[in-house]
Amino acid sequence: MNEKYDCFISGAGLGGLLSSAMLTKHENRIFLAEKLPFLGGRFTSHKYEGFEIPTGAIHMIPHSQKGPLGQLLLHYLQLPVDIQNVENYTEWYWPNRKQIKHKSFLGIFKALPKRSQSFFVIKKLILGVRNSKHHTEPFHEYLEARTKDPQVFQFFNAITGFALSLDISQLSTASMFRFLIKLYQKGRPGIPIGGCKEVISTLANFSIQNRLGNMQKNCELKKLELDGSKVNLAVCRNLNTNEEFEVKATNFILNLGHFQINDILQNSEIPFRLPSAPVAKGGGFAFRSNTSILGSSAVAQFPENEYFKGAVEPTMVSPNLAPSGKHMFLTHHIFKSNDVVRDSRRARDEVLATFPQLEEEDELVIHTFHKNWPVNFASQGNDLANFSSEVDNLFFVGDGFKGNQGWVMTEGVAYGVYQVVDKILSKKHN
Ligand SMILES: Cc1cc2nc3c(=O)[nH]c(=O)nc-3n(C[C@H](O)[C@H](O)[C@H](O)COP(=O)(O)OP(=O)(O)OC[C@H]3O[C@@H](n4cnc5c(N)ncnc54)[C@H](O)[C@@H]3O)c2cc1C
Repeated sequence: MNEKYDCFISGAGLGGLLSSAMLTKHENRIFLAEKLPFLGGRFTSHKYEGFEIPTGAIHMIPHSQKGPLGQLLLHYLQLPVDIQNVENYTEWYWPNRKQIKHKSFLGIFKALPKRSQSFFVIKKLILGVRNSKHHTEPFHEYLEARTKDPQVFQFFNAITGFALSLDISQLSTASMFRFLIKLYQKGRPGIPIGGCKEVISTLANFSIQNRLGNMQKNCELKKLELDGSKVNLAVCRNLNTNEEFEVKATNFILNLGHFQINDILQNSEIPFRLPSAPVAKGGGFAFRSNTSILGSSAVAQFPENEYFKGAVEPTMVSPNLAPSGKHMFLTHHIFKSNDVVRDSRRARDEVLATFPQLEEEDELVIHTFHKNWPVNFASQGNDLANFSSEVDNLFFVGDGFKGNQGWVMTEGVAYGVYQVVDKILSKKHN
């Protein structure tokens, strides 16, 4: 390939596609290489029996239109994506208690037992926010020093188990507070009509209409080549033909995980490595149903369960994610051990015990994530704040590079992409 592109992007997950859309808006010519036969990575869906089954993301955008992703899609790129807020923030299912719903962030604390509400909301939380950046200890230790109430631990574990696939012992206090502050500032989640696949195809079409350059599926990045202190070309392999070819570009963006990037750096004999980052692990089930299971679009939280921590029914907002008149109920659980089969079985038992109206035959799929792929590149709090590398024109985007600012999931991906694209564009203009 003789053309020299403005930017080579490896990986057409949300990170790669957002980068491509933003750069093509500024007339950059892009080569986008994706190793799988489809676009979107873990933020898309595949149709199965008429249901849009997620590859990862359960069709939710954490802060709806107000977070970095909503802002990039709707304002920066002005895409015709329709993101609708869910009804309530979260709805809490404590056994033997009335279901608790809340529309404001602070209302979430109503889900705590009465005896802990004033204690947390008024005293400890406000003090915690003020001093939180100095707290490097795991969040459970922070709590242990302040309360013995087991329901407080269950309450926070339900939130982090669902949103981050982490136990509060795996998250630093500073990271936990950064996440809570963003929840307070930016508000409740939203669901894009048509789900994550609609966002992905709108982004891809935007790049194509803006004369993207070249987008290849089944195309794997093998290595990069340095010319002095800069990368000057990427070596790719067409997975259909096994043929290797080179792509020249001015800048290079990798939308890959820490492990994959380190493999590429090693193959390329580029002498630096990313720190190894712990990854989150968990899974979920998709169930079909003739009637709504939750009766609401809000995230449902189950604090007393050990594994099954939360669920959503995105068909309450976007009915076209299921065949006409049907609902899709998506659950999320964590793993407590490396025995994925046993932990998934226990999670299923908890789901069926919580919702006896569900039948095992209604289970459409089970998915798990636990090792290097397909998982979160780095667990929340271990994602890197540095989007550039020691090589001048090599940048990183995606789940492993969310900036550690408290932005979770795709909000963090969008935040990181903005930092990288802004840097590339300002370099070009200087
Ligand atoms: C179960 C689960 C539920 C989730 N739910 C939500 C949710 O509801 N809302 C939300 O906001 N977030 C959610 N997330 C997180 C969200 O899915 C991720 O933050 C986001 O999809 C990450 O996008 P990415 O672009 O960083 O990575 P990816 O989607 O993993 O994209 C990376 C891409 O790179 C490609 N690739 C890898 N190696 C190569 C190579 N050598 N050459 C070329 N291509 C390569 C891969 O095939 C992939 O397409 C969830 C995650 C999981 C696992």
